[in-house]
Amino acid sequence: MIRKLLRRVFRRAAPESILREPAVISVEQHGVHREQISPAALKVCAVLQENNHKAYVVGGAVRDLIIGQPPKDFDVATSATPEEVRALFRRSRIIGRRFKIVHVMSGPETIEVSTFRAMQDAESAQTDEHGRVLHDNVYGSMAEDATRRDFTVNALYYNPSDETILDYHHGVADLQQKTLRMIGDPRVRYREDPVRMLRAARLGAKLGLSIDPAARGPIREMSSLLENVPPARLFDEMLKLLLSGHAVKCLRQLREEGLHHGLLPLLDVILEQPMGERFVWLSLENTDERVSQGKPVSPGFLFATLLWHEVLADWEARKARGEHAQPALFEAMDAVLDKQAGKLAITRRIVGDIKEIWALQPRFEKRSGKSPYRLLEQARYRAGWDFLRLRAESGELPMELPEWWDEFAHTSSENREAMLQPERNTGPRKRRRRRKPNGGGGADGDFSE
Ligand code: ATP
Ligand code: MG
Repeated sequence: MIRKLLRRVFRRAAPESILREPAVISVEQHGVHREQISPAALKVCAVLQENNHKAYVVGGAVRDLIIGQPPKDFDVATSATPEEVRALFRRSRIIGRRFKIVHVMSGPETIEVSTFRAMQDAESAQTDEHGRVLHDNVYGSMAEDATRRDFTVNALYYNPSDETILDYHHGVADLQQKTLRMIGDPRVRYREDPVRMLRAARLGAKLGLSIDPAARGPIREMSSLLENVPPARLFDEMLKLLLSGHAVKCLRQLREEGLHHGLLPLLDVILEQPMGERFVWLSLENTDERVSQGKPVSPGFLFATLLWHEVLADWEARKARGEHAQPALFEAMDAVLDKQAGKLAITRRIVGDIKEIWALQPRFEKRSGKSPYRLLEQARYRAGWDFLRLRAESGELPMELPEWWDEFAHTSSENREAMLQPERNTGPRKRRRRRKPNGGGGADGDFSE
């Protein structure tokens, strides 16, 4: 009670952070020129300003341009309400239930336009029993909008018309000093939204910034708050992290912060499992490499690798109990995915991709008869083979197996016939218990559904 009262008085008495005048940083100081902003974002800002609204490019894009990384996308913040924005752009739509934002389409681009938001105040906002803010849908001043953002480097407002940056929280200086600093009291901010802990790790790794000790300190003890975050949101955030192009660095950072422990079964698997560790790091390195080369990465493939050794362990255990290989694999797959689902909601489409890749694996062991031909025709053959090669590279299987398939896939049909193994000897491990009383249906080792 008393603490609540004190906090209320304190909050009333200390709104200086939202009354603060921003520093105006000139283009000579920050170096970001109008030409580096996407044409769509320039247009959105210009139209809004012509109609007497404030409008700035904000967030990640400004930050990335200052440190010389290509921005992922351009967001605009404005004093106009969503309805006012909607009325100014023919190709636009209002989205979001909790907090309305407007998507403005221009050429191939979509610009996310959000109205300045009021500060989240743990007193007035609706929170869950751990203090996590559930709703924050009040519009506010530009200074408030800056203060409710997470890190100082994310609270920079770029005005394309004069190329200045308005900086309320010394974000430009922090960027130059390579520091990721939280706006406000980190403990309070993590309580409001525990996902900020993951963002700290991700942005630190992506930008090469070190997390300010005040923001870094509380993470270890507060990490359990992440358990209350809705699984779908956690999945989004994990996906961003894993596909950031800096997954290896991010996960090392998470481990350092103690953030993986008991937090997500997935992270425990990734970071604690001796058997699968080499496999997982290889896969993450692979992913980072692909991102840096601008190649597409499939989330399904990535999650399939992250969870594979769990499946393998469960599958082996089932087989050791005498279950048949094929149904045992499918049960192991479901068991592992179900365990994840409680905390991290992998979307259904991605779960489908994961299962396809896993289900193909035992089929690579059959190198006789018709089944290699059928496997080659599978739509997901290539993903399945990439996965197989990764297993071999990590030492789980002999390299000879993916090499055999690579040759088989690319050689003439006569050579293929010659490559096939005699019917009875199916690959590296001989199947000794083939003829079981109830083994009636389907070809052994054929996993097509
Ligand atoms: P990325 O490079 O991944 O896009 P980003 O910082 O732009 O990084 P977004 O999720 O696109 O991340 O968010 C856009 C902006 O919204 C951020 O720069 C930050 O100002 C603000 N923001 C995002 N998430 C939060 C959060 N959890 N709490 C407070 N502010 C946030
Ligand atoms: Mg962004």
